[in-house]
Amino acid sequence: MRALLLALQIAAAQTSAPIPTFVVVRDGTTVTMVPVTIDGGEASVRADVLMKAMRGMVITGTNLHYTLALPGARLALIDGIPFAKRDSLTIPLNRAPQVRGGQLYLPFQFVTEIIPRFGGGGYVYDVAQSELRTFTPATGTLLPARTANPTPRTTSTTPRSTVITPPPVSRPSTRKVVVIDAGHGGPDNGMTGPIGTPAWFVEKEVVLSVAQKLATVLRARGMDVLMTRTADTLIALSDRGRIANSNHGDVFISIHVNAPGSRTAAGARERGFETYFLAEAKTEDERRVQDMENESVKFETGANAPKGDPLSFIITDMAQNEHLRESSDLAQTIQQGLIDVHPGPNRGVQQANFAVLRGSYMPAVLIELGFGSNQSEATYLSDQDNQRALARNIAESVTAYLAHYQSRVGGAR
Ligand SMILES: [Zn+2]
Repeated sequence: MRALLLALQIAAAQTSAPIPTFVVVRDGTTVTMVPVTIDGGEASVRADVLMKAMRGMVITGTNLHYTLALPGARLALIDGIPFAKRDSLTIPLNRAPQVRGGQLYLPFQFVTEIIPRFGGGGYVYDVAQSELRTFTPATGTLLPARTANPTPRTTSTTPRSTVITPPPVSRPSTRKVVVIDAGHGGPDNGMTGPIGTPAWFVEKEVVLSVAQKLATVLRARGMDVLMTRTADTLIALSDRGRIANSNHGDVFISIHVNAPGSRTAAGARERGFETYFLAEAKTEDERRVQDMENESVKFETGANAPKGDPLSFIITDMAQNEHLRESSDLAQTIQQGLIDVHPGPNRGVQQANFAVLRGSYMPAVLIELGFGSNQSEATYLSDQDNQRALARNIAESVTAYLAHYQSRVGGAR
């Protein structure tokens, strides 16, 4: 294993700067050794260790976002996306930062290039010494001997690489478009239940039925409706948001049925409805539902699998963030409305990082209509009249939300 790593390090060294085992971070009189890890032949450093050595910190945001907060600059990153952002500047990276074992790892390029260039000035990387130094004029001793240019700050902050500016996000037309996403489909059944009986309740069937009834009500109210699926087919989670965007949806509503974490007698008693908006999961329960609904990805193969078009992702992702507040408002409106019709209990508005909501440019929520794992709730949700009542109720909330939103922004969109 050691020989292999060495070979990989040599191979890497031939194509770029040599990769040391440690990088020395010299900040004034403080010297910190930051380990360089090699994973799959690629060199990385742990973001928190590097930032601490540089008197900065890593801020963990929502939705896979991280910020490297240095004394002179903030670099925004997204796990798995090979771009960094500093203010409005988008900086392409050789490789994406990655979270492994709960820790954010930065490509070695951050040490050699990104921080010296974009870290807010005052940093130089000395290849010969494998040292990242804080260039503090006051001490006057930290300039590397091998740097020909005595003012590396001015040369190093000028980006040479292509800078990509995201195009403006297109605005929807005046006619309201509601995107309805019936969860799961095809080989992905979603949850089945109830617990303790042969599975007669299948999530993908019930949510499609409710979604179709919701579409009927909204169309009758003069709205345009787009359904991500109208049959028993599998649509990739990432494609659901894309479908919504390319049709300029105004709101995105994903419909699901819940199941408890364990198929125990206590689990079988779990009941109630909840509405989620996209943000970082905060509680165990939110994480459980998030993981359960994101599991659909495992059914996606080949053409359906997320390709990770990085630029569209980063733009999408930023657009989504603008809608966080609106998504929360929409979730609140829907959840409040359901109290009137659903036997309950009301489990409230929740937040989680759902893959299906990640890719949409519009206020987006995910409704868990109840627990199909519970005998009485599975029976309730399977009833056509109850489904119609739920659909009418959700339609009212969506209509109210859109009217309220339109009045708030003065019909600007
Ligand atoms: Zn589901």
